[in-house]
Amino acid sequence: MEKKDNKINETIAEENVKLLRIISTISALFLSILLLMKKYSNLVTIQIYIVSVFVILFVIILILSFTTKFVKRNASKVMHILYYFASIAAIYANYIYNDYLQFTMLLSVITLSILIIKEVKKLINYIIVIYPIVLLSIVFINQSLVFKFVTMVEISVVFIIAFYNLNIEEKMKIKIAESDNIIEKIANTDTLTGILNRHMLNNYLIECKENYLKNKENCAVMFIDLDNFKNINDAFGHNVGDDALKLSANKLKASVRQSDNVFRYGGDEFIILFKNINKKELNGFANRIMEQFIEPLEVGVLEVYTSPSIGISLYPDDSNEIENIIRNADAAMYRAKSTGKNTYKFFSKDIDAALKRRAEIESLLRRAVQNNEFTLAYQPQIEISSGVTTGLEALIRWNNKTLGNITPSEFIPIAEETGMIIPIGEWIVKTVCRQSKEWERKGLNTVPIAVNVSGIQLKNSKLIYMLKKYLEEENLSAKRIVVEFTESIIQDTDKSLKIVKELQNIGIKVAIDDFGTGYSSLSLLKDIPIDILKIDSFFIKDIVTNKNTLEIIKLIIEMAKKLNFKIIVEGIEIEEQARIVYENGCNYVQGYFFSKPLNAHDVEQYLK
Ligand code: C2E
Ligand code: MG
Ligand code: MG
Repeated sequence: MEKKDNKINETIAEENVKLLRIISTISALFLSILLLMKKYSNLVTIQIYIVSVFVILFVIILILSFTTKFVKRNASKVMHILYYFASIAAIYANYIYNDYLQFTMLLSVITLSILIIKEVKKLINYIIVIYPIVLLSIVFINQSLVFKFVTMVEISVVFIIAFYNLNIEEKMKIKIAESDNIIEKIANTDTLTGILNRHMLNNYLIECKENYLKNKENCAVMFIDLDNFKNINDAFGHNVGDDALKLSANKLKASVRQSDNVFRYGGDEFIILFKNINKKELNGFANRIMEQFIEPLEVGVLEVYTSPSIGISLYPDDSNEIENIIRNADAAMYRAKSTGKNTYKFFSKDIDAALKRRAEIESLLRRAVQNNEFTLAYQPQIEISSGVTTGLEALIRWNNKTLGNITPSEFIPIAEETGMIIPIGEWIVKTVCRQSKEWERKGLNTVPIAVNVSGIQLKNSKLIYMLKKYLEEENLSAKRIVVEFTESIIQDTDKSLKIVKELQNIGIKVAIDDFGTGYSSLSLLKDIPIDILKIDSFFIKDIVTNKNTLEIIKLIIEMAKKLNFKIIVEGIEIEEQARIVYENGCNYVQGYFFSKPLNAHDVEQYLK
């Protein structure tokens, strides 16, 4: 923005300098001719001096315009002053060459008074209209040939100057207006899709508020996020992704009224602002938008599919503060996503309550590590055939003075989003290592302890370093730690492969957690040499009644045997489930049927 402004200023300055040079050159030439012709005229010495001073002045300014920055920068001001000088010089020349002193005196007075008032435009009009008339009349009244010639030259010069000046002002005005337009467009539109961008949204919202206060007209915001858009980028590349975004923007625009504004909020997020609208109409538009996305987006020969998740919030119905409307629509969109995507949700009281609770958790989470509010529970992992405990899974517990017990499923995602998972994750590893050492010292059965590691911790390059550090600190064998990742992280095969190998190199076993709930498929496992696969409790729930589920589990077990990794089935709650799992070849389990997660003290009793 600032750059653009500078650019305009530069162009204007350049044009001004050009004009300045033209005026000084013409004026200097004209007055020099006058001096050269002095033998035909009756100039007295003092008059020759005065004209010479003018010539010198013009030449100096001409030179300065090439050499001095100040003159260049202030060319416009210098030019105007020069312009008056040129006029005065012309008037003076008149005075020398004719007897009509009254005329020239009059001209001087007018010119000077305008100079003082600084009304350049009027001066130009005056010069264009009055000055030539006066001069022409002099030409016809005066008889001397030399005088006629000089006056004609003078008229031309004044004309050229005035015309050029006018023209340039006009041109500049147009140029500035054009540039302003371009700048405004660049600042206000999203370069990719050509629709309005996020910066503009604020202005529109302010307008909405004013409109409500004045005319009692409400407004509504739809927050639209395209489902699984990352997959399109990952599968087809960013060019296809970009085109898909453009097509999506078009679809959104086609679904609403001309008067509704569509904004790109960022990434695959869009916002539509509706004025003067009710819930019923919003329902209609939301349905129209979703219908638009039933057909695939056609990018070249490709057909790519995405769907919108839409959150809707109304002003002032949902909040008296217009500033909250985006946040509320965003929260409603999240609700739409979590209820299965490709749907829309209006902001509601319970979404509001959830937002407030989230904010509270977020703020309390920041001090939870320092305040020692976390503890670890350990859930035994059992070998069915022998009934022996072969491992423990460390599960975090948070008890806060204000909120009481908060489940990890609620606060871990918030910790991940806010980055708090890094210090929390470090606390977990440190605590697990210490605990393991303590149990070793007490001579208890030393089984490996599994630690859940979130995808965010993986991206943080310190993970391996941190694990090594605490193992060394406690002088603990790496065999005593298992790292559990959720299956969604093995999406990025190359990166996960690298990390899995690094962990295995230092002797830490790697487990894939919650298998079957994410996107990954069995085929992905072929490429990553994991040690343990944990089948999510989701499969176990209907294993007794659903034959298909059992078939899937059988397939996974068969594959595990071929690829040589261990399987642990999670969430065994009843004996029947344990029996079916065992009969189908899976020996390792975890679940309430065998043991709930226990606190450290209870684990000691349990292991004894
Ligand atoms: P997860 O890693 O799959 O852990 C297993 C979850 O299932 C635990 O819930 C456990 O208490 C529960 N569970 C165990 N047996 C049964 C059963 O028989 N029936 C049922 N219905 N549930 C059972 P929890 O402790 O609430 O943890 C939930 C999730 O939160 C964990 O799933 C894990 O993804 C995450 N989490 C827990 N602790 C940590 C941690 O220390 N770090 C990280 N990054 N995530 C953690
Ligand atoms: Mg786990
Ligand atoms: Mg799990």
